[in-house]
Amino acid sequence: EAITVQDLANRMAEKAADLVKALFKMGMMVTINQTIDQDTAELLVTEFGHNIKRVSESDVDIDTAADVDVEESLQPRAPVVTIMGHVDHGKTSLLDALRGTDVVRGEAGGITQHIGAYQIKTKGGDLITFLDTPGHEAFTEMRQRGANVTDIVILVVAADDGLMPQTIEAINHTKAAGVPMIVAITKADKHEANPQKIRERLLEHEIVVEEMSGDVQDVEVSAKTGQGMDELIEKILIQAELLELRANPDRAAEATVIEAKLDKGKGPLATVLVNRGTLKVGDILVVGTQSGRVRAMHDDKGRQIKEAPPSLPVEVLGLGGVPMAGDTLTVVENEARAREVAAYRQERATAKRTAQAPTSLENMFSALAAKQAVIEYPVVVKADVQGSTEAIINALNRISTDEIKVRILASGVGAITESDVNLAQASGAPIIGFNVRPNAKARELVERFKVRMKYFDVIYQLTDDVRLEMAGQLGPER
Ligand code: GDP
Repeated sequence: EAITVQDLANRMAEKAADLVKALFKMGMMVTINQTIDQDTAELLVTEFGHNIKRVSESDVDIDTAADVDVEESLQPRAPVVTIMGHVDHGKTSLLDALRGTDVVRGEAGGITQHIGAYQIKTKGGDLITFLDTPGHEAFTEMRQRGANVTDIVILVVAADDGLMPQTIEAINHTKAAGVPMIVAITKADKHEANPQKIRERLLEHEIVVEEMSGDVQDVEVSAKTGQGMDELIEKILIQAELLELRANPDRAAEATVIEAKLDKGKGPLATVLVNRGTLKVGDILVVGTQSGRVRAMHDDKGRQIKEAPPSLPVEVLGLGGVPMAGDTLTVVENEARAREVAAYRQERATAKRTAQAPTSLENMFSALAAKQAVIEYPVVVKADVQGSTEAIINALNRISTDEIKVRILASGVGAITESDVNLAQASGAPIIGFNVRPNAKARELVERFKVRMKYFDVIYQLTDDVRLEMAGQLGPER
């Protein structure tokens, strides 16, 4: 465990320069940004007459769970809704139709910015937030990262089709998450529509809708004619009321990243959904392993926003790097704290990845010699946008076989950095860049460590290449 002189000074509430002086007297020449080891730090702390307190993780990181809002501070917030269902059953059309019911957009003339989520104001003045990426992949991925932002799932089933594989997957994911469901039977305008058949088929999955005297709300809708739209909104509001969704808006904000990307002009951009508190322009924050400051915010109508209350999705400018979907954004008191938390998380992430990644080339061959069942082919993946990263990970996972598996040591968005190179070097893995290149420092390290680097701009070429490499690792007899 090491700490920079500056961070230690912050924690001791002493001037960093005084620490440097004391260290000098102890025979150590260090600057405020250099790190010192734990023993030296403890010596310094005693020197300054402080008590030594070994910090626990919650002292360094942010412990949101321990920070509970009192009952009186809680106020109603808008429900957050995700639409799931089989491909072509009308998820996107429904999202568009619901967006069209927004009274605010109606007034303003309606410019639509796709930021990954949008909020509508109903005729009755209620607010509803919709996640704009339909399908259960995003939902599941967020959950895997511990982010449960969805309050209500709308299960879309086309009235002219039936329960399809992805419908069933969506049902399972929704049940697993314990999120209440509303069934929207879409394409009700079609003459071959048979909503009753859908209701009956749902029984097989223990979903008993209202029409069948159950307690799951259902509604027949058509994105084409607008049929059932008001009723669907009504049902969302009823469900939301049952859930008593509330949050404290008067506190430092906590938000979840819905999606993130690197914009060539604006830098890292993230769409976040505020869970509690109010996010303000100028706020200093930590998100995942990045720190930053809110430079500007935009809503889904492209308007500049100064303050974002709970459940409002906003696109945030001013992050130090591109976070991951599902990361938590937390506002902190000052920049020193933000940097400290981010640095701590980075260290921890690197330590974890290195510990998990013992697969050097030698290990791989000795594993082969021992005829171990599965060999791992480690890679580090960097891409220009989150969507590509995800597509590449999925594609790579698919080319794994019983004998050799792709192991993604790290993946992310943005230029290839020193930490990527260090990780690749430690694990004997190649770095795969998709529409990205290394920064200057990383390039230096690549040359020094002779780390293999490969660039692609077409996903299937990337997977073909990895597949060939993997076949090479297995040798001719396999
Ligand atoms: P997704 O894959 O679930 O997002 O489905 P889409 O929203 O892209 O819809 C798939 C197809 O069904 C498109 O051709 C739509 O025009 C059509 N569609 C969607 N909703 C309706 C509807 O309510 N009525 C009719 N007639 N067609 C619809």
